[in-house]
Amino acid sequence: MAQKELHDLVIVGGGPGGLSAGIYAMRAALVTVLIEKGIMGGQVVMSDTVENYPGFENITGAELSQKIAEHAQSYGLKIIYEEATEVLPGLEYHTVKMANGEEYRTYAVILATGGSPRMLNVSGEMEYYGKGVSYCGVCDGFFFRNKTVVVIGGGDTAAEEALYLAKLAQKVYMVHRREELRAGMILQQRIKSECKIEMLWNTVCTSINAGNDGVNSVSLKNTKTSEQWDLPTDGAFIFIGFNPNNKLVPRGIKMNADGYVITDEKCETNIPGLYVIGDLRAKFARQIVVSASDGCIAALAAAHYVETKTTAETCELPAEFLENK
Ligand code: NAP
Repeated sequence: MAQKELHDLVIVGGGPGGLSAGIYAMRAALVTVLIEKGIMGGQVVMSDTVENYPGFENITGAELSQKIAEHAQSYGLKIIYEEATEVLPGLEYHTVKMANGEEYRTYAVILATGGSPRMLNVSGEMEYYGKGVSYCGVCDGFFFRNKTVVVIGGGDTAAEEALYLAKLAQKVYMVHRREELRAGMILQQRIKSECKIEMLWNTVCTSINAGNDGVNSVSLKNTKTSEQWDLPTDGAFIFIGFNPNNKLVPRGIKMNADGYVITDEKCETNIPGLYVIGDLRAKFARQIVVSASDGCIAALAAAHYVETKTTAETCELPAEFLENK
């Protein structure tokens, strides 16, 4: 059944950005609904340890997500667990269409749909996903206790995941295409001092190979010497960045060449009342705290926007005022 009520704000995405927007929206007394198709918390749920969110020296991603969700719900934020399939911008109001056929009409929309892990696109990756190929150490690391795993990538995520996997596995090879990690300095130092992790610099993975029991090796190539070899492993964990989840971004909204949405300082897109926050937004730093900050900015901006819309609709301007104009 279609939702006839006109909402002030619909937030799509229940990660730290969307939930922070929910907190600010509820405190601003906006009639708000948050839509989440999966589990609350977004990508951060996959993080074993978060050490850079202010106020928490060390917290698991799952716990941090839960705390932010509980905080938002303490203000009565309504959460709908369903997939949003389309956002239709309108002059009077925007419409968010749902997979179950419902529609939410709303003055403002905040898109907080984040990103998804990027694929390596080598042979064996798709075939053996779930049979030794993984994009989440916290989810699948348990199956590799005392085994050998290969981590592919050199960013913060790869480094954090390699350190997590080193707590479980017997040996972790970290395969990186350059000879310098992109990961931050503290993580680099930890990787260096973790004796279970062996770096394979200037190396790319060209295929993931498996037998009846799942992954048994990866084919590697040294980019400097062109040497190629097969490295025996029980698992291949791929962390080479992510792609923005921009499927719901309406046509006509400005994006950069990588598919991230361009916004102004209020996180507003080129369509009034349509905001984009978190990892989907084009910006310098993709951090949990930045997503939360985006959520605050967009919700406050949305509150102002809704006020101008509702004031324009409910107040009739005195005739003298119009004449003076
Ligand atoms: P990232 O920073 O984009 O790093 C991706 C890594 O994968 C890079 O080392 C890159 O190599 C490598 N790579 C990319 N494509 C590849 C390919 N086709 N083959 C082989 N290697 C490839 O991605 P990320 O580590 O997922 O981090 C994404 C963002 O989230 C970053 O801004 C990061 O700081 C942030 N993050 C924050 C936290 C936190 O707040 N605690 C935790 C994790 C991540 P090159 O270095 O050669 O480009």
